[in-house]
Amino acid sequence: MQIHNASYQTSALELEKCPDPEFPEFAFIGRSNVGKSSLINSLVNQRKALADVSKTPGRTQMINFFRINNAWHLVDLPGYGFAKVSGKKQDKFNEFVSDYLANRSNLACVFALIDSRHTPQKIDLEFTKWMMETEVPFVLVFTKADKMKPGAVKRNVDAFHKEMLEWCDAPPRTYISASPNGQGRKEILEFIGQAIDA
Ligand code: GDP
Repeated sequence: MQIHNASYQTSALELEKCPDPEFPEFAFIGRSNVGKSSLINSLVNQRKALADVSKTPGRTQMINFFRINNAWHLVDLPGYGFAKVSGKKQDKFNEFVSDYLANRSNLACVFALIDSRHTPQKIDLEFTKWMMETEVPFVLVFTKADKMKPGAVKRNVDAFHKEMLEWCDAPPRTYISASPNGQGRKEILEFIGQAIDA
């Protein structure tokens, strides 16, 4: 799939404030600093960095919607698991993101981003387990692969899959990405294109 145009639409803090569900949505989520903005910017490949909108004050903890090719929405979800958010605020935050993930009628797929440099992290495993139990459609994207030798990335991916097999029959579709060299970009866009056409 080629990206012809991409533009910021709106931001929301609750499900009721999300745009009308007229377009299929592909949402991106991960721990803060996982490389989400870099991946989004690399995917849409626009002159103006799209995902920077999500980093402007007030929007970092909102759900940010971008319209792509007038055909689908790219949804930038807030990063999870940052210690800076106090317990109470974290609960509220989780409530709102989980409400979107569990109840958004036009959510086509979630891209769960995982830093390929690390062995399986509890917070990522818990989150993917919750998505599986809640029947949220998702795939995995292991980011920052250019920072590691391919063998080391594979070991971490395999280890993550092995942990997942404790509670599911088969691990989900998995992509490896590196934003600086565009690794994974074509495959991810192809997957979205096929899902839209299906
Ligand atoms: P976010 O907080 O998840 O949106 O993460 P960012 O996209 O802002 O990335 C966090 C840091 O990691 C930045 O310094 C990026 O330049 C760097 N980074 C993100 N993705 C990659 C990648 O694929 N490869 C490398 N080498 N660095 C990356």
